[in-house]
Amino acid sequence: MISKKICMVGAFAVGKTSLVRQFVESIFDEKYHTTIGVKIDKRQVSVKDKMVQLMLWDIEGVDVFTEFKPSYLRGASGVIIVADSTRPKTIEVAKQIKHEVELTLSNAQFLLLINKSDLAAKWQPTENDLIHLDIDSNNIFNTSAKTGSNVEKAFRRIAELVLDTQ
Ligand code: GDP
Repeated sequence: MISKKICMVGAFAVGKTSLVRQFVESIFDEKYHTTIGVKIDKRQVSVKDKMVQLMLWDIEGVDVFTEFKPSYLRGASGVIIVADSTRPKTIEVAKQIKHEVELTLSNAQFLLLINKSDLAAKWQPTENDLIHLDIDSNNIFNTSAKTGSNVEKAFRRIAELVLDTQ
């Protein structure tokens, strides 16, 4: 079976861990977990008649922006950048992170998730944000790790993207 490494990146508390839990275990937890360390979860999805094992790398309880380590990204085929629809600043962090990731990974596929869509959204990406991020609109999703909205769809999309570029 094909196995692909996917890294979750984004500002503190945007919902990286919660999105992975929703996708892998169909669980949502309001509690904030501050365990430090890298957690690797996996789930298989079938895409275009092929099974793909997604290895989902998540740094728990760490501000990925300040703690960014190129070694975390090594070997990743896909990067899921997460922002928080209630905190406009998280899109600025997303832009900076994308830039940093590109210094380490040259062929990665990117997804942008604007998470917490179950809460009242305070912002949407501007055209300028999208130009800076350079992520196709097909690869941007408003998600909720709480209700599960678009979560399955988004992870399936990254599976599709990394499969196409193997
Ligand atoms: P991380 O630091 O990016 O991994 O963020 P977490 O997954 O730990 O989530 C941070 C906080 O936001 C936790 O209290 C979660 O319960 C909450 N949270 C995460 N995703 C959502 C969501 O889609 N909707 C709501 N309402 N809360 C969320």
